[in-house]
This record gives sequence, C-alpha cells and structure tokens, in this order.
Amino acid sequence: MKILVLNCGSSSLKYQLFDMKGEVVLAKGLVERIGIGGSLVKHTKGESSTVHKPDIQDHSQAIKIVLDLLTGPETGVLSDLGEITAVGHRVVHGGEKNAKSVLITSDVIKSIEECVPLAPLHNPANLMGIYAMQKMLPGVPNVAAFDTAFHQTMPREAYVYGIPFEYYERDRVRRYSFHGTSHDFVSARAAEILGKSIESLKIVTCHLGNGSSLAAVDRGRSVDASMGMGTSCGVLMGTRCGDVDASVLLHIMELGSSASELSDILHKKSGLLGVSGVSSDLRDVEKAAEDGSERAKLACDILYRSVKKYIAAYAAVMGGIDAIVFTAGIGENSDLTRKSVISGLEFMGVKLDDSKNGGLRGKEAIISADDSKVKVLVVPTNEELLIARDTQRLAK
Ligand code: ADP
Repeated sequence: MKILVLNCGSSSLKYQLFDMKGEVVLAKGLVERIGIGGSLVKHTKGESSTVHKPDIQDHSQAIKIVLDLLTGPETGVLSDLGEITAVGHRVVHGGEKNAKSVLITSDVIKSIEECVPLAPLHNPANLMGIYAMQKMLPGVPNVAAFDTAFHQTMPREAYVYGIPFEYYERDRVRRYSFHGTSHDFVSARAAEILGKSIESLKIVTCHLGNGSSLAAVDRGRSVDASMGMGTSCGVLMGTRCGDVDASVLLHIMELGSSASELSDILHKKSGLLGVSGVSSDLRDVEKAAEDGSERAKLACDILYRSVKKYIAAYAAVMGGIDAIVFTAGIGENSDLTRKSVISGLEFMGVKLDDSKNGGLRGKEAIISADDSKVKVLVVPTNEELLIARDTQRLAK
C-alpha cells in the first residue's frame, strides 16, 4: 500500500509518500511560496534532492507538480499514479465533531468548513489540498487527521474557560489545543521504548518547536494541553507570547493597537523574538545569551520556567507522573533546554543523567538517571507516519 501524506499551509505544501510495507518514505518534499511569486519545490528521492522553480499560482497547481515529480523519469518513485492507494491530509482544526482521524466525506468537509472561523489561516489551505486531490485522483480515498483530535478527550474542566458559559455553548469558545498527532505519536512511542503499556502510564509530552505545547497524557488519553482556542497560549514560543494576563491585552489595545495589530504582536512579534530582540530561533538566542545578552538569557529563562511549570502542573492534574517526553526542534536538539527544564524537578523524583542528555540531535533516548523514578525521554516526532498509519487503517 502506498500512501501520500499532505500538509497544506497557506502558501506551502509538504508531502511524503510512504510504502507502508516497512513504513519506508519513498519520496518527500516541500513546495514554498505558492501564489506569492518566487515558488520553490524541493523534492527528495532517497538520498538525492532536486530543486525546481516553476511558477505556482495555487494549491491545485502545486499538487499537480508534486504528482508529476512522483511519476517523472528522473524524480519519480511511481510508475503510475494508480499506485497511490490513499491520501492522508493534515487538518489543523476538527472542532468538537472530529475526535479522531476520519475518511473524508461531504459531511466531514462541511465540518472542516465550519471550523474555518477557529483556524482562519490553516483550515482553508487544508481544504484546498483536499479539493485538489479529489479532483486529481478521483476514486482514491482521502483521510483527514486533525491536530485537535487527540485532545478531544480532555474533561470539561480542562477546556471550558472561566467566562460566561454562553460563549462556549453558542460560539464554541473553548480550549482545543493542537499538535495532537505529535503528542499521540511520541507518548505511544515512549511507552514502547519503556516496554510498558500506554494504559499504565502518566506522561507529560513536551512538543517544543517554533510553536510549542505540552500535554498531560493519562493512560493514553490527553486530559489537558497548553494551547487554547488558538495557538498563542501556553509556553513561550519562537514569536508567540505564551500565557499572558488578559489585562495586558486590553491595555495594549487601549494604548492604540487594533485587534489585527494586537494579533500581529502576540503571534509574530512576541516570544523568544520579542523578549530577546535577537531572533525567534532558539539556537541564535542561546548563542546570544552565552555571549552576554541579558535579554536573550531572560528569553531562555522564561521558556525553561514556563515548560517546568506545566510539567509540574500536569503531574498534579494526573495525580502522578511516570515519564516526561521531549520532542520537536527544541525538544529533540537543545540539551540546554532539557537540562534547564528538568533542573529543580528533583523533588518530583526526576533525575537527569547529563552524560545521556548531551549531543543527541534527533535520536530516541532515555536521558534520566537509572535510579530516576520518573523517566525522561527524547522521542523524535513523526506526525506524517502517524497520519499515514491512520490513512492506511481507514482506507482499508
Ligand atoms: P516547527 O514548529 O516550525 O516545526 P521545529 O520543530 O523545526 O519547528 O523547531 C524549530 C526550533 O528548534 C527553532 O527554535 C530552532 O532553533 C530549534 N532548534 C533546532 N535545532 C536546535 C539545536 N541544535 N539547539 C537548539 N535549538 C534548536
């Protein structure tokens, strides 16, 4: 079975083609700058990559180019498009109706459309990918895997905000949280690495990348997660603010910012970038801190502290903790972040082994000391593989 996984952003498209026999990636790539000029396609087959610069106006055209590359004489891995058994789409917002991956029907499309107001940048792009695939590969099943789905098991007290209840009932204003596929994948994988059943474990998963979130995964079910109705709350991120008191937002508006300017400030000018004034990229900020920048050091300290606080809070919510899992760009690569976050949590029975924590660079590992009651792991995330597995299961 060959499964194509698509992740459509507003001006980009990422793809991976899996041969599910052995779960091998046959080809993958990235299309950038769709519809904004200067389009770029990076296509990788095995060890070799090629870069193409066609003019791409929309997602439909981007997908056509991807399908041509997958079947082309030099770049191809398929003799015929008929070899593609099914297509899995990453969809950011599934709302309350979609609590797991689903085979796409007209009702599912309607439910994704209904969530557009909740994810105005992402859901329309995801829909474009679905429409284009339906047109180009008629008869091939499409599956949607939602970023929000894994967190639909949260209890009400985790997702209802302390504002008048009608905003929830009427407008579905509530915590949804995101990165669900990643939290699902790494918590399940951590259980495998530990040789335990996921049903026996209380795990805190830390997905720390440009966008970051933590989840409390209690025996395989997400019971709390740090992003909210949108993607700016929780821990400090590259350019997003993390938790901020509502009074601060009102004050910024009273100082003269419009709603859209405020959104820009909170999503694009805050976080590591806003505090450090250096960069949104943690590598640059850690380097600047090392070179003596006080603000860069402060930005790092805010990040470490916010992650530490969520870990302890989620241990309290679950009434215990067996494992902490780090994943995504920062979680997989920054040993300084992992060390700084864990340091001070010894009272909870967590002890890092510094020699295991150093220099991992995207490899699976248990990095806690042998006598640590709580295990600490690094598990590289692989959202595409989980989407491919769900797609295979549903397409069957
Ligand atoms: P996205 O959320 O866009 O998928 P990633 O998961 O790729 O982002 O994470 C990007 C972040 O990971 C950046 O802040 C980057 O600095 C950080 N990162 C990657 N490698 C390292 C490293 N070796 N040390 C510290 N941070 C790193």
